[in-house]
Amino acid sequence: MNNNHTQKTITLAGGGLVGSLLALVLARKGYQIDVFESRPDLRKVDISAGKSINLALANRGIKPLQELGLMNDIEKMLIAMRCRLIHVDGQADNFQAYGQGAHEVIYSISRGELNGYLMTQAELTGKVNFYFEHRLTEVDLAKNQLSLNVNNKNVIHHFQQLMGTDGANSLVRKAILKQNKSHTNYQNDEQLLDHSYKELVIKANTKGQHKLDKNALHIWPRGNFMIIALPNLDGSFTVTLFLPAKGLKSNAQKDNISFSELLNNEQLNIFFDDNFSELKPFINNLEDDFFTNPIGRLATIKCAPWSFSNKALILGDAAHAVVPFHGQGMNCGFEDCDLINQLLPNANDLSSDFDWQQFFQTIEQQRKINSDAIADMAIENYIEMRSSVLQADFLLKKQCAFKIQQWFPKRFSPRYAMVMFEHRPYCEALKLGEIHKEMLNELCDNINDVEQLNRVMAEKLLDKYQL
Ligand SMILES: Cc1cc2nc3c(=O)[nH]c(=O)nc-3n(C[C@H](O)[C@H](O)[C@H](O)COP(=O)(O)OP(=O)(O)OC[C@H]3O[C@@H](n4cnc5c(N)ncnc54)[C@H](O)[C@@H]3O)c2cc1C
Repeated sequence: MNNNHTQKTITLAGGGLVGSLLALVLARKGYQIDVFESRPDLRKVDISAGKSINLALANRGIKPLQELGLMNDIEKMLIAMRCRLIHVDGQADNFQAYGQGAHEVIYSISRGELNGYLMTQAELTGKVNFYFEHRLTEVDLAKNQLSLNVNNKNVIHHFQQLMGTDGANSLVRKAILKQNKSHTNYQNDEQLLDHSYKELVIKANTKGQHKLDKNALHIWPRGNFMIIALPNLDGSFTVTLFLPAKGLKSNAQKDNISFSELLNNEQLNIFFDDNFSELKPFINNLEDDFFTNPIGRLATIKCAPWSFSNKALILGDAAHAVVPFHGQGMNCGFEDCDLINQLLPNANDLSSDFDWQQFFQTIEQQRKINSDAIADMAIENYIEMRSSVLQADFLLKKQCAFKIQQWFPKRFSPRYAMVMFEHRPYCEALKLGEIHKEMLNELCDNINDVEQLNRVMAEKLLDKYQL
């Protein structure tokens, strides 16, 4: 493959959400971009199977899109989700607001539409070439060389700088880590969650409308497992069941069910009748979809270093895949692109001795501490979503946190709000959240209603923790 090296060219491996946004960011800075993507062009071929069909876009992800002037177009793709709507069979639906301000909203968006839109915007710069059905098979960092499978033929591409946005199973990450085994900060942690997921659908009604409240993220929490549903613009909902991959045979409890016990229609129907009897009639093609759609695995990846020499850097899920329970994986990857946008000089201003190695290390320094933090908070949030949302103690503390925020808006913001609606670094949200936990434990020790919350004591604790 021939490269025109008279222009500053950056090679990207992976044209998913992060790769496509990164290509646009770099092209707007004047770089020439080649993106190698293993899948066909998702604007022409439906390739959604197995990947979440929609996802939650939040303020952190919106910021770089806004700065690139894309939000006017993207707004048309969004459905606002203003609260959690908790469904417990036989009980009235329970609304749990995400925040207290009108701006405290998250948005459901189609993964494919957003990805396709970002690809088109990147191409419109005239500086980005997407090479679809070009699967990276080997990364040779010593020779600045990629091997690609194209129509079953091996094609070699030479790169100047490589950015790996090839997702959680990143080959670029593996190559970087292989070169860095003796690095002082070497880390290669890949924690597979013991829960997996399966996507189902609630179709629109005959008038093309949503069958459930469309401005909410719906949750059916059931202790050790849960279902969530996010709205789509066509009136449907994407429904995701999160369940242990394998059960513990020694434990015969009802909520110990797992994917490995749902092997035929009878078992599936009993499981849904027992746990989701009010939801079940809404789900279309339950049996077919359940046994046709793949089971998705979920993992947390924490690794270091993220770069090799002045040659290669990883970003997005390739560097920091997180489990989806805070709805922040893509948002976090978009923040990576935002930082690149802020710190990388324009191609025209790039000196011939620009220190790429230092630049890559700066990106890692600023981002890793934050991606590690959101990884931990995402795991915690799974327990909150599937179980805590049903507990009186959790709900009281949530109300009290809102109350403290109303009393002292400049000094206190609940952790969920810090993560979802603010731009404060994730690591700060994690740290402050720990302090908030201690405060709320103390404040809620002897009360059972938010009206009993002691304002003077709350202020004293804010002073004590210097908030
Ligand atoms: C069930 C679920 C729900 C989620 N919900 C949310 C949510 O609500 N909000 C949120 O912010 N995040 C969410 N996420 C996380 C989000 O999907 C990811 O963080 C995001 O997709 C990361 O983007 P990426 O471009 O880094 O990786 P990916 O989206 O995985 O893209 C990687 C790209 O690289 C390509 N590729 C991979 N290997 C190769 C190769 N060898 N050669 C060439 N190309 C290759 C792939 O085809 C793909 O196009 C969710 C994830 C899951 C699984």
